[in-house]
Amino acid sequence: MMPAKYWTQLRMLKGSTFQTMKSIKWMNDRPSHNQQYNPTYVEHIANIITHGIWVLPSIYGGLVLLLKSPTSSHFLCALIYSLSLILCFTVSTLFHSVFFSNKNRFLRELLHRSDRAMIYIFIAGSYFPWVFLDPLPHNIWPYHLWWIIWVLALIGIVYQQTFYEKYKSFETMMYVFVGLGPALVILQHKSLGPGEFMLKLGGALYILGITFFKSDGKIPCAHAIWHLFVAGAAVSHYFAILFHLYS
Ligand SMILES: [Zn+2]
Repeated sequence: MMPAKYWTQLRMLKGSTFQTMKSIKWMNDRPSHNQQYNPTYVEHIANIITHGIWVLPSIYGGLVLLLKSPTSSHFLCALIYSLSLILCFTVSTLFHSVFFSNKNRFLRELLHRSDRAMIYIFIAGSYFPWVFLDPLPHNIWPYHLWWIIWVLALIGIVYQQTFYEKYKSFETMMYVFVGLGPALVILQHKSLGPGEFMLKLGGALYILGITFFKSDGKIPCAHAIWHLFVAGAAVSHYFAILFHLYS
């Protein structure tokens, strides 16, 4: 049986852990209209880790797709998709690291703008293998989605860079439109076979994650939770591409 003194020590440890947890600042106040949220120390660390840990796996995953490419078209799609995946996590990690450790406003804004632009590149890059390798019939307009998606991403980026940190709700609506719209069009015209469930799961995770993307200062570590939803959705999409288009 455990001696009484160990019970006392365990109770003290539990008490001090609780005190420590209570003393941590889990979130700051919500920013005023169109201002950037200022994360707490813990939130900064969580933001860096939740995307930083995906950089190496995404490089590995990209190499697997490149090596499994049976044709030059597959290789091209693997290259574009993998670069968008790797850059999405890398730019995000860089931005959050600089935001945490560096007071250089110019560098911070440059990386923040790049981080947001990467979301559009990542959306277009994720669609690309599906619309290029497994295209819709030539005689209907959605066949052209393989380039329309890039035009939409470009429009999104131009809008976002022009109206940086203004009309944020409209910006979020544009992400949803560019992210979800093409999927709805594609699914109206054909089934994507065994990969469809994982694609839909990924899409649902992205949409659910937006709730946290908009909850800075309302939910502790909201942005890091958004990152986890993005990572979960990216994993789901990656395996859908691997199993459906590359095996
Ligand atoms: Zn982020």
